[in-house]
Amino acid sequence: MASHLWGLHLGKGRIVINQGLPGDLQLFAFAHELAHVLLSRGRWPWASSLAEEWLADWFGHELLLPAQLLADLSGARAAPALTVAAQTARLGLGPALTQVGPTVICRTCGHRPHLAGCECFTVRARVRREGSHVQVVAGQSL
Ligand SMILES: [Zn+2]
Ligand SMILES: [Zn+2]
Repeated sequence: MASHLWGLHLGKGRIVINQGLPGDLQLFAFAHELAHVLLSRGRWPWASSLAEEWLADWFGHELLLPAQLLADLSGARAAPALTVAAQTARLGLGPALTQVGPTVICRTCGHRPHLAGCECFTVRARVRREGSHVQVVAGQSL
């Protein structure tokens, strides 16, 4: 299978997945192609052909990790934003370093610098020096 193809659905029942993909992407590719199979069998007749790829991506993501489950698990409605960010980072679901307002959130330390020598100290110092407008994105600012 061409390397740019993640998967294919053949007819109304066969799915082929690119074995060169990492395992987690193979899982997503299968879920995506499953949506195409269900569409070809008449599921979601309201879906236009223009929206088919969007629907297949949405279905794939929802099958692997329902957004509602993530919201429930994260306590996103009850917990402070920095708690949601700290716990998400700790689980490896978000970037190793992120920012909530002026507060840097570190996957290891949390919302305060706890572990001497952690990579977040440099970023926290930069945010203190340059102000909270510094955008911290997944390690790129280290
Ligand atoms: Zn597709
Ligand atoms: Zn840290």
